[in-house]
Amino acid sequence: MTLADTWRQRHPTARIVIFEKEASSIAHGTGRNSGVLHSGIYYGSGSLRARLCVEGQALMKAYAETHGLWLDPCGKLLVPTSESALQTLPLLLERGQANGVTVERVDRQTMLALEPRVETRYGEALWIASTSVVNPKEIAVHLATRLANAGVSLRYSTPVLGMSGRQVTTPEGVIEAGVVVNAAGLYADRVATAAGLQLLYSFQPFKGKYWMHRDPAFRLRRLVYPIPDLNLPFLGVHTAHNAQGQVFFGPSSTPILGRENYRGLAGIELGEGVRLALGLAKKLLLNTNGLRQLAWREAKLLTKAGVASELAGLIRGVAPSDFSESLAKVGIRSQIFDPKAKQLVNDFVILEQDGAVHILNAISPAFTASFAFARYVSDQFLTTTLR
Ligand SMILES: Cc1cc2nc3c(=O)[nH]c(=O)nc-3n(C[C@H](O)[C@H](O)[C@H](O)COP(=O)(O)OP(=O)(O)OC[C@H]3O[C@@H](n4cnc5c(N)ncnc54)[C@H](O)[C@@H]3O)c2cc1C
Repeated sequence: MTLADTWRQRHPTARIVIFEKEASSIAHGTGRNSGVLHSGIYYGSGSLRARLCVEGQALMKAYAETHGLWLDPCGKLLVPTSESALQTLPLLLERGQANGVTVERVDRQTMLALEPRVETRYGEALWIASTSVVNPKEIAVHLATRLANAGVSLRYSTPVLGMSGRQVTTPEGVIEAGVVVNAAGLYADRVATAAGLQLLYSFQPFKGKYWMHRDPAFRLRRLVYPIPDLNLPFLGVHTAHNAQGQVFFGPSSTPILGRENYRGLAGIELGEGVRLALGLAKKLLLNTNGLRQLAWREAKLLTKAGVASELAGLIRGVAPSDFSESLAKVGIRSQIFDPKAKQLVNDFVILEQDGAVHILNAISPAFTASFAFARYVSDQFLTTTLR
């Protein structure tokens, strides 16, 4: 359930207004992700990402089932693609178990029974039966329609231009609210700064590109992901699929110079682009967060042959010529960087000041976690913030 739902349940007479700068709520992160309801295996024990992901996936699955929305309970195989990934497998198993995820260590035979196309070079994998896929656009549109029908005011094409305490400025004028929540995704840090927060973080967007298998008859029964490098905050190139059965491969994780830089040079603002370019050059020089390794891997993903060679460790029989001509999907990760710790921030960040709550770093699995996230923000922040 959304934050608006949680709030309505607790304050039935409250007036709720949602400002959205685009003409719909699916122009950015929520409309551009793979719709995977992650299990919670990846995230450090005790992190918000671990806790809210585990709770959130069950809530969203139940929502899809209750409302007859598309849900594929396909499960996920996590496959080692190198000797070092094989060493990581037991660590990831332990991490998942500590987070309360049901995860099994499976052998070659079971891997093939689950997904006949899986690569079994290292003879074992992790299997998470609870991972599912939904259509994120369908979920978001369903939620928005339901909220609008329940009397929540959804103001599309209405950007928040400024905030001061509980006062919010939009092109429609200034409104004074009892509580304000900034959940502006790629712009959340900017809105927070405009509201007067002294942020210790800088912003570093990453672009995730996906390619599609061009053969409409090509199918995968399961999601197939690599055992990731736990030193990098990315999951690695994997498979994804949609309700039509189309299969996608990706994403890349390319550091970029604009918050909405989906294609070419579009979406790059000059001042911010220069600042991001200088920041990246410095991080590469200092090899902050293993960025040089990441850059090397990313350079490989610029070509279809490079993506196909990453995939070869996961599934058999996919050649560069199988990829669709152009990119199938592009999303941008709302990542913040902590200059003091010299690290990409690896958890959700929630800050509160002057009656406003700011949600930063809503990176994956924020879509999976969103219903639990709403409940958490409501319980932990809004009751104390309410005037
Ligand atoms: C390539 C990729 C794949 C992913 N796959 C998954 C996945 O499979 N599963 C998963 O759980 N997560 C996934 N994620 C992460 C997930 O997409 C995001 O964590 C999630 O969508 C974030 O939601 P959000 O509401 O914070 O952001 P958004 O959906 O971007 O919403 C923020 C909204 O704020 C609006 N806005 C911005 N500024 C203003 C302003 N000034 N005034 C008014 N409105 C404003 C924007 O227009 C936008 O609609 C993926 C991310 C990427 C990049």
